[in-house]
Amino acid sequence: MTEQRRAELADNLARVQDRIASACAAAGRSAEEVTLIVVTKFFPASDVAHLLDLGVRDIGESRDQEAGAKVDELRDLTGDTDELVVHFVGQLQRNKAASVSRYADVVHSVDRERLATALERGAARHDRILDVLVQVDLDPDPDPDRGGVGPDDVSAVAAAIVGLDHVRLRGVMSVAPPKQDPAAAFARLAEVSARLRGEHRDASWISAGMSGDLESAVAHGATHLRVGTAILGSRPSHR
Ligand SMILES: *Cc1c(COP(=O)(O)O)cnc(C)c1O
Repeated sequence: MTEQRRAELADNLARVQDRIASACAAAGRSAEEVTLIVVTKFFPASDVAHLLDLGVRDIGESRDQEAGAKVDELRDLTGDTDELVVHFVGQLQRNKAASVSRYADVVHSVDRERLATALERGAARHDRILDVLVQVDLDPDPDPDRGGVGPDDVSAVAAAIVGLDHVRLRGVMSVAPPKQDPAAAFARLAEVSARLRGEHRDASWISAGMSGDLESAVAHGATHLRVGTAILGSRPSHR
């Protein structure tokens, strides 16, 4: 069973890596500019152990309790998680910020100053530096439950982040709005990123693109792709 699962993950991973390579070639970009984050939410630590063994270094998680327990279990399973880079990609409540700052290396979903300062406090307590991205809501008709700031508010959130010592601004993140052309959303995100880089030169990461739209994200300059389903299969809640 476990050998079978490993083979399945290896196959799917290779297919996604091929898609990324083709998308980069089509866009005239080097595949080295693009980091694949395998989103392992809802899947067990044993899957992450297979992925690490297959050369994956970056994983994404979206629920604090599940993620923290999985990272601890992984350390027990593999004896060592030093090479693992944990990306927190889900919406984050302020009261979970201290917990997330214990095990996460990157938080993609910072969309308000108070969340940034809560992460700062948590990271300081754990004596760590957290990389963070400002989550941008590109929907012209924003849903307050989905998270993210409008393009015009990115600058203010970014300015709050750069004043902090244990939280480092790296760029922007977005999820293409449902039922809309992802290419238009990613083009807009590229503009938001260019404006942010004008203000903060090092904030060059663009986290965009998932299983269904990674080609479009690569075409519009994504530096980080967050891919779940295409590698792990459909999540339990979607079955
Ligand atoms: C779950 C999730 C993903 C992965 O989506 P897939 O369609 O399964 O590739 C990417 N980004 C975020 C923010 C997610 O929550």
